[in-house]
Amino acid sequence: MSESVPDRSAWERIATILRRAVPRQQFETWFRGMALVSLTPDRAELTVPNNFLREWILRKYFGVLRRALREVSGGDPEVEIRIGDEERPPAVAGAGEAPVASPVRPPSPRPSPTLAYGESDVVLNPHYTFDNFIPGPSNNFPYAAALAVADSPGKSYNPLFLHGSVGLGKTHLLQAICHRLMERRPDMRILYLSCESFTNHFVTAVANGELDSFRFRYRHVDVLLIDDIHFLANRERTQEEFFHTFNTLYNANKQIILSSDSNPAEIPTIEERLVSRFKWGVVAKIDLPVYETRVAIIDRKARFHGAVFPDEVVKFLAENIRSNIREIEGAVNKVAVLASIQGRPVDLDLAREALRDLLPPPSSRVSVDGIVRTVAEHFGVPVKDLMGKRRSKSIAFPRQVCMFLARRLTSHSLEEIGGYFGGRDHTTVMYAYDKIRREAEDDVELADTLEKLKLKVTS
Ligand code: ADP
Ligand code: MG
Repeated sequence: MSESVPDRSAWERIATILRRAVPRQQFETWFRGMALVSLTPDRAELTVPNNFLREWILRKYFGVLRRALREVSGGDPEVEIRIGDEERPPAVAGAGEAPVASPVRPPSPRPSPTLAYGESDVVLNPHYTFDNFIPGPSNNFPYAAALAVADSPGKSYNPLFLHGSVGLGKTHLLQAICHRLMERRPDMRILYLSCESFTNHFVTAVANGELDSFRFRYRHVDVLLIDDIHFLANRERTQEEFFHTFNTLYNANKQIILSSDSNPAEIPTIEERLVSRFKWGVVAKIDLPVYETRVAIIDRKARFHGAVFPDEVVKFLAENIRSNIREIEGAVNKVAVLASIQGRPVDLDLAREALRDLLPPPSSRVSVDGIVRTVAEHFGVPVKDLMGKRRSKSIAFPRQVCMFLARRLTSHSLEEIGGYFGGRDHTTVMYAYDKIRREAEDDVELADTLEKLKLKVTS
């Protein structure tokens, strides 16, 4: 083994070992924020940005971390992980640990997943569960944080603040927390509602002189979840009221979970003292799903319709619908519905037809001929070799680029494209396509070349 390259810093060597021990994406999620403060054979001091990460690492990755520290320090150091960044204000100890049963709670067993307490008129979507949530690099952290909070509300990560743009799963995660709590902690009083409901209740309470009962309702819950909290912007009095609700619950160690379309600091016209409170616990961002996650979601949603889409269709959808998960669901629905009303099998043609409105029209001016000529010129290889049988690397790569562009830019089927390139079958085209696509994700230069070729071919 050659990791003890002497001129690399200790942390880099530790990170290298960790990277080898855990999947890349997990390394990114859990260890990227970690810093090494000091390391001797007896003692290792590390920091992480928040308590959530700390506990997760202690729970799941302590073994690998310890091995790495041993290896790099040459001893068996005692490990200390501290919170590095900003100090979290001390949580005031709550009155009693055991949640008090709510007098207002409906009789159990609860017949249906309607939420539960107070004036929340929300009916939970039965599909918005953790089981139905597909994690991936774009949402692993919020997903894990939501699970942790659902498993031990009020204990560690408070508040949990989830943010991300529309259609990426915020409501799904909030409701998944509710489902799990209702299942496992029927003793808890849970209140889930939209920010708008909170605002409306407040305005009504003020108008009717019922502030006392309003306050009682909101300040005597064990878990308060407010969806789309950014709607508090521009609502000064509601913000004020929410501020006090927050303080009361927080000081009593009650769990608060919020979602928003942007991070706390970017919600316009929200009071600074709220912004800072939102950041006390864990702030977790949901990003746009990556390709692999889109594939998994499409597959799952298709199965939900009782259909299994062929690989080719799944990939086609995953490539073309990138905006958000709600749109992906819409696309899967369209395909499934069209197949069922026309009694046709789901294939690429049907998918193209179903999504005609969502997709840019495949540019009809682009021909495979044009692609081959452009690529041949760019790589300095003969056109006839690209279309022939030769397998040498100097030809194989440009040929794969041709197949990639043909698939992206024309509406020819895989079989047609394969036929064009020396009678290769559709799996070869699919393979070439995936390979180039994947390589271009890591290789900026290739991505750039593809862009240029695309421009040339389409103009
Ligand atoms: P938001 O509240 O962020 O606007 P939603 O929670 O309403 O988004 O999600 C939009 C749709 O996408 C919902 O039907 C939800 O079930 C689905 N969805 C979002 N994220 C995922 C995921 N990771 N796995 C499966 N379905 C998801
Ligand atoms: Mg939502």
